[in-house]
Amino acid sequence: MHASDPPATAVVLPSGNGERSPAARNGAGRVSSHVLVLNATYEPIHVCGIRRAAVLLLKDKAEVIETGVGELRAERTAFPRPAVIRLRTYAPVPRHGRRRLTRRAVFARDDWTCQYCQARGDLTVDHVIPRSKGGSSEWENIVTCCATCNRRKADRLPHQARMFPRRSPRAPHPSVFIQVACPRIPESWRAWLPTLA
Ligand SMILES: [Zn+2]
Repeated sequence: MHASDPPATAVVLPSGNGERSPAARNGAGRVSSHVLVLNATYEPIHVCGIRRAAVLLLKDKAEVIETGVGELRAERTAFPRPAVIRLRTYAPVPRHGRRRLTRRAVFARDDWTCQYCQARGDLTVDHVIPRSKGGSSEWENIVTCCATCNRRKADRLPHQARMFPRRSPRAPHPSVFIQVACPRIPESWRAWLPTLA
């Protein structure tokens, strides 16, 4: 029911906007419907939709850092379409470990590479300490793993299987979530995402 979330302030969007389409939300559609959000410190923290960005700008909670193509019109004003905005006050970044863990984010963190044999295809995720042995479903216990290694390791502990992840898994940097939210990173964002430059 994502069609029923009106912005707090009336915002007229340019025609043809893909904000409501799930494809656009997944990054498969128009990249321009995503806006990169920087903290007051200029650290990139997440990606939001154009409506959310417009509300933040109209309430003066954010400023435009980079503009995209076209403009946004509110009741009495029009302003260039934002591509990158910066929050005027510091927003505490959610502790990385508490960001939602998804397979895509795990894959992105691990460069889409099996952490046991470095294969890049047929990927799944592995609990380093198997759940049956008390392993948690947290960033620190989940790695990218190919189906072959996953079958080989089965329900064993790393030392039993003699299989150890290349890198000890950690909660990823915010830029990983930005990549996952928007796989096609717009040019105007790159300067603000040093890890992707
Ligand atoms: Zn493997």
